[in-house]
Amino acid sequence: MTDLYCVFGNPIAHSKSPVIHAAFAGQTGEDLRYEARLAAVDGFLAAISAFVADGGRGANVTVPFKEEAYRRCDRLSDRAARAGAVNTLQFIDGGVYGDNTDGAGLVRDISVNLGRSLAGQRILLLGAGGASRGVIAPLLAGRPAALFIANRSPDKAQQLATVFADLAAGTALSGGAFPELAGRQFDIVINATSASLSGDSLPLPAGIFAPGSLAYDMMYGKGETPFLALARTQGAAQCADGLGMLVEQAAEAFTLWRGKRPQTAAVLASLRATLS
Ligand code: NDP
Repeated sequence: MTDLYCVFGNPIAHSKSPVIHAAFAGQTGEDLRYEARLAAVDGFLAAISAFVADGGRGANVTVPFKEEAYRRCDRLSDRAARAGAVNTLQFIDGGVYGDNTDGAGLVRDISVNLGRSLAGQRILLLGAGGASRGVIAPLLAGRPAALFIANRSPDKAQQLATVFADLAAGTALSGGAFPELAGRQFDIVINATSASLSGDSLPLPAGIFAPGSLAYDMMYGKGETPFLALARTQGAAQCADGLGMLVEQAAEAFTLWRGKRPQTAAVLASLRATLS
């Protein structure tokens, strides 16, 4: 019998997850169907129940339900517990297990697809929302020299630095406001804000991109994102959007559900072609 999976979100029509998981299933020979399900903003729990009643085995969760998914879970992976958000659900033995694969997806995209080691790097993380929170532990596991979290509301960035301090080991971990970036340089700058969604540009002081630096935007879409355009003009040597992160977090979820890790390179290349 074909196993059923889905992604919940609102809106959800734009989601690329069904295409990605169909490609993974074809490649690994797994018999599954993956669909996009729109949940009402106040109807996420009901949507989960209906999906389980339909025989659903697992689901991804996207905006705006990741925190609600976290609260619904009976059991959590360590990384989901740390993130305070869940993007992957598994319906198992009558209960709900929650994981968060976003951070692993980002780190795999940077280290494998883009070929950049995190070790010894000075990393700047822009934003202190759910996406930022989900990637801090995996970034720290890569043993960077420094991780600075900058946010429009600086108290949230400082709070995150405190929450993750026990994982920092040899990394100088701190948080603050955008003006505090003046005079500092970074090897990897990651945009985890949603500023581009509202067409706003970030108030980044000139000179923060070190020679050879990588600018990474979790956002993706047709053409260059506003953040990557800014980074390029400010001297970032390498620019990447979040399409690779999307495919890698999906691969991580697929591996959890099916016990087989799919190959991502061809899937990423064909998605990229649909965006150009
Ligand atoms: P949240 O709403 O939780 O957080 C938004 C963050 O952006 C906050 O830090 C907020 O600052 C900041 N922000 C919003 N508008 C502005 C602005 N005009 N200027 C400066 N800062 C701003 O969102 P998420 O963390 O869930 O998502 C962030 C982004 O990451 C989204 O664009 C999302 O699409 C992307 N993403 C991509 C993934 C992928 O697979 N590629 C996976 C997950 C997320 P403040 O605290 O001051 O409000």
